[in-house]
Amino acid sequence: MLILMKHGHTKEQLDGVASKIRSLGFTPHVIPSEHNVAVGITGNQKGLDKEVFLALDGVADAIPVSKSYKLAGRDFRPKDTEITVGKGKNAVTFGPGRFVVIAGPCAVESEEQTLRIARQVKALGATVLRGGAYKPRTSPYSFQGLGVEGLKILKKACDETGLPVTTEALDHKGLEQVYQYTDIIQIGARNMQNFSLLAEAGKLDKPVMLKRGMSATIDEWLQAAEYILDQGNPHVILCERGLRSFDPHSRNMLDLTAVPIAKDLSHLPVIVDPSHGTGRRDKVAPLSLASIAVGANAIMVDVHDRPKEALCDGPQALLPKEFEELVGKLRGIAAALKLEMPGAGK
Ligand code: PEP
Ligand code: MN
Repeated sequence: MLILMKHGHTKEQLDGVASKIRSLGFTPHVIPSEHNVAVGITGNQKGLDKEVFLALDGVADAIPVSKSYKLAGRDFRPKDTEITVGKGKNAVTFGPGRFVVIAGPCAVESEEQTLRIARQVKALGATVLRGGAYKPRTSPYSFQGLGVEGLKILKKACDETGLPVTTEALDHKGLEQVYQYTDIIQIGARNMQNFSLLAEAGKLDKPVMLKRGMSATIDEWLQAAEYILDQGNPHVILCERGLRSFDPHSRNMLDLTAVPIAKDLSHLPVIVDPSHGTGRRDKVAPLSLASIAVGANAIMVDVHDRPKEALCDGPQALLPKEFEELVGKLRGIAAALKLEMPGAGK
């Protein structure tokens, strides 16, 4: 339910509505707007009687919200959410009017490898560093990541280059560790519906990048985001990374239609991972260009200078030279779309 306050309502009337909602055992969310202040209600498991709210002073209307996600939806928050990571001159904002490039190796393999690639992607225009310390691998015999050692390496790379970092937390214990070292907590496709992990991430005060599950609908993705938002963390970045499909020509089927749809339904930033989305180095650049054109707020791409030696996902990693060319083309499209695109070479 969304309670619309009358124009010129008083603070006491607004407080009265909030305390009525609390007295019913639910949570009020005051939504300021240029035109009409509204109060959203969460916590109710079935529809509410609008007459209860219409009887309160200062209330203009009570509108039922039928969607199963509320805090993630535009009904509760029409304005796009902006999420800033990093500090000072290295601060980067995900949101309207901007385009961010996240790049780095799929996995942190060693200090030398991560620092080397971090320096290169920064020099070529990335403004956020990616790298997995905990890797969700299909086979238990594949490289599983360096764990805490990997997180410390990422921190070192961040301290040296200034690039804020995104890295994945696979489980509760990993979440606590990742939280200490990262700027963005990544929840991967395989964990998109790990509801207890989502709720734990919702109690933290760092942005969460929520990757879409490989067979999740857009509504399921937004409900997963709702688990995080409902615990009090308003900073969720949605990441489209391709769906499991019948066609073996690409690793996944990158669903770029999901970008404008998710942006219509939700105020949260939406970004695209064309590396995991295609699994093919030669298709990462074209799909990155399509991502910016379709309205993504950022891309996240795998970059490796020695992909043949990579311990994870070498075939989808761009070479630094290819990444450089891609950033140049992205800058052209960003200029045409009047998007600000931070980073070297600007
Ligand atoms: C990743 O980004 O490293 C990753 C494992 O991606 P996904 O969860 O989309 O498979
Ligand atoms: Mn990978």
